[in-house]
This record gives sequence, structure tokens and C-alpha cells, in this order.
Amino acid sequence: MDLWFTENHTRNVRFSMKVDRQLYSGRSEFQRIDVFDSLEFGRVLVLDGYTMLTEKDEFMYHEMIVHVPLCAHPAAKSVLVIGGGDGGTVRELTRYPGVERIDLVEIDEEVVEVCKKYLPQTASKLDDARVRTHFEDGLKYIRHHEAEYDVIIVDSTDPFGPGEGLFTREFYGNCFRALKDDGIMVNQHESPFYDDSAQAMQRAHARIVHSFPLARVYQVHIPTYPSGHWLFGFASKKYHPVKGVDWDRWEALRIPTRYYNTKLHAASFALPTYVEAMLREGE
Ligand code: SAM
Repeated sequence: MDLWFTENHTRNVRFSMKVDRQLYSGRSEFQRIDVFDSLEFGRVLVLDGYTMLTEKDEFMYHEMIVHVPLCAHPAAKSVLVIGGGDGGTVRELTRYPGVERIDLVEIDEEVVEVCKKYLPQTASKLDDARVRTHFEDGLKYIRHHEAEYDVIIVDSTDPFGPGEGLFTREFYGNCFRALKDDGIMVNQHESPFYDDSAQAMQRAHARIVHSFPLARVYQVHIPTYPSGHWLFGFASKKYHPVKGVDWDRWEALRIPTRYYNTKLHAASFALPTYVEAMLREGE
């Protein structure tokens, strides 16, 4: 029997993976959650019909959302992750001996439970002693924190459903306030390629520029995301993402990676001309 999972990447484009077996399907208070084994990408987590991660390419997303800010910041100790209930971002953060505190704010407890059961590859470090998990809306959590974090990582779903509030001006302004004087915020920034997500990324960039003195965008290749071309936002109070970065400090940590390296870090801020134009237009 041929069983396929199909996701609408746009109204006119679809992406399909051949399914080996379905492992979990349920509806939480916030979203529908599915987990299945695919023949090409291994285990897959899907929320409301959208692929969140696959075993085969999650390292590209998680390494780039974590190691870029943790390399650019010379001494991050206190990190906040908003979203990220699959645990992949936390897993990468626990590789840093200097990180003393990781607050994970995930709206949906069921995502964490399902990932602990079916996705140990990403969820394995959620029980690390430095991790405190808060089951709460990130938009509300951030209102009550000031000058607490060195790095904030917004590892959210797309700007609709429960993730919508995490793309607002209010949210970015509150992230600015929750960061220390030299803090960095990184967020998943959608794709520049298809119209709907390109508009979302322009809007997000314009709002971040409004809230932070330094706002840049960097790119990553994620085969299972729409168009495969994805962006992250890098917003900072003090540190530039490339100039003045102490690359040797990061190399000396000897963190094992499969996608990230310091040359790629610097290069990922060089964007295609049409993306630069879109960002300028949004500003
Ligand atoms: N890598 C993923 C992507 O871009 O497709 C994101 C992965 S992660 C599973 C996203 C998480 O953000 C989900 O578990 C979702 O429940 C959580 N989330 C969505 N809105 C949220 C909110 N307002 N506050 C906290 N967590 C939220």
C-alpha cells in the first residue's frame, strides 16, 4: 500500500513524503499533532499539517538557530527559548559548558510529551539540570521579564495559530526589554521565496528593525521547508553577528556539528540580491 503525507507549501505547490508508518495522531488544546516514520527523512513531527522537523534535516535548523548567536555572544550564560518544544534547540544549547540557565517557554505541553516519547533525537536533553520548562504563551511570559537573558531564541511555528503573537511589534519590544544590555535575539524568520511567507518575513524584519539597533538576517538550507531556503533573524543590542566575533573562542569549545562552522556562520549573512531588496523595502 502506498501511503503519502502531503503538505501544501503554497495554494499551488505541494510537497509529499512517502510514509512508512503512522506513530501518533492527536489534537491538543492548541493544535493537531502527528508523528510518522518516512522512508526518506526518518521520523517526522507535523503540527496542524505543517512539517516542524524531520530526523534527517533537523540538524541544519537547530545548529544554525543556536550556534550563530552563541558564537557571536562572547559569554552567554542565561538563555530563553520560546517555542521549541521538540527540544532540538535545547539539545544544541546544552553543548555549551558556559550556559548556566535555559528557560524553555512552550505553549503546548502535549508537544513536549509526544516528542519525549517519539523523538528522542531532539528531546533527549529536555531533562538537563539547567533546563526549566514553562508551559505558557511566550507572548505573555515575556511581558514579565526585564534584563534577564543574554540570548533569546524564538523557535516558533509560523505567524498564524498559536505562533501569531510571536511575530508582533509588542513581542519584539518585550524581547528587547528582557535582554541584558548586550543581549541577542534570534528568530525563525520564514522564507523569502513564496509570496505569503515573503510578506511575513518582510513584516517581521520591519518590526525587529523598529525594536533593535542592529537587525540582520541570515540564511539556511532546510530541504523539507517550503522552497528549502529559510531565514533566521539576528537582532542585537551590541554585538555584530560577524565583525569582531572571536571565532577562536568558539573553535576552542570543540562542539561537534554537522552543518554549522564558523566560515558558514560568516557567509550565511551574505544574502541573495532579491532578498536584500525585499528587506530594504520592508524597512
Ligand atoms: N522548527 C519549527 C518550524 O519552524 O517549523 C518550529 C518547531 S517548534 C515544534 C515550534 C513550537 O512553538 C511548537 O511546539 C508550538 O507549540 C510552539 N508555540 C507556538 N506558539 C507559541 C507561543 N505563543 N508561545 C510558546 N510556544 C509557542
